Amino acid sequence: MGRAFVYVILGGGVAAGYAAHEFVKRGVSHGELCIISEEPVAPYERPALSKGYLLPEDPARLPAFHCCVGSNEERLTPKWYKENGIELVLGTRVKSADVRRKTLLTATGETITYKILIVATGARALKLEEFGVSGSDAESVCYLRDLADANRLVNVMQSSGGGNAVVIGGGYIGMECAASLVIGKINVTMVFPEAHCMARLFTAKIASFYEEFYRSKGVKFVKGTVLTSFDFDSNDKVKPVACFT
Ligand SMILES: Cc1cc2nc3c(=O)[nH]c(=O)nc-3n(C[C@H](O)[C@H](O)[C@H](O)COP(=O)(O)OP(=O)(O)OC[C@H]3O[C@@H](n4cnc5c(N)ncnc54)[C@H](O)[C@@H]3O)c2cc1C
Repeated sequence: MGRAFVYVILGGGVAAGYAAHEFVKRGVSHGELCIISEEPVAPYERPALSKGYLLPEDPARLPAFHCCVGSNEERLTPKWYKENGIELVLGTRVKSADVRRKTLLTATGETITYKILIVATGARALKLEEFGVSGSDAESVCYLRDLADANRLVNVMQSSGGGNAVVIGGGYIGMECAASLVIGKINVTMVFPEAHCMARLFTAKIASFYEEFYRSKGVKFVKGTVLTSFDFDSNDKVKPVACFT
């Protein structure tokens, strides 16, 4: 028989951190609440990963951006969870849930029982393979969703010594990454299928203001097209990126 809790939050991201803060404010008892997360660290402000985390100088690093600094609340470090009697089960993937028996089975084989389950498993990055483009595993292809992705991107940026980057996607995260790459003295080309950047949020006029500003910093835009394939060199590094024209 494994551990048992009144409340279990499945997922240890932003929602879990803020929920834990609220539980404590409302007076949860020690030992009642548990957070299970696949990630190896306590909940943190994920938005920092495409902002301060990527800066070449004085980059943001944990524990500086644990939840809930994003809303100017206290910073919930692992010590805070301990002091408040909240169990953090980190680096642990839940592989199945039995909602009738109110149990979760972890990838390590432990059964964790709950009375109330809060599912906060968030989202994941879509992989290139899901669009019919292979090459996600190449050394120089980076995604950005969690801390491990951000560390990988930082390593690639640092080891590139300038060079060229293609940012696929013209939404918030693509625009923020492009800005960090430029600050890191890397030449950036952005590729996205829409007619302008931030298409779900910006009008064409507002977008053109931002695109002009980015152009003034050297960013090139390839718009209205999608990535179709990569070419690789003998070191498994991506060379040209092919797009529909
Ligand atoms: C780079 C980046 C920048 C962003 N910038 C902004 C921004 O500026 N402003 C903004 O409003 N939003 C931003 N977002 C979006 C914001 O981070 C998300 O909306 C937010 O993280 C959602 O919180 P969540 O707790 O629902 O999910 P997440 O934070 O994704 O957390 C989900 C957690 O569940 C865990 N998990 C999933 N499945 C399992 C499982 N089976 N077992 C155990 N654990 C599991 C994951 O490992 C993860 O820890 C950004 C996102 C990214 C990736």
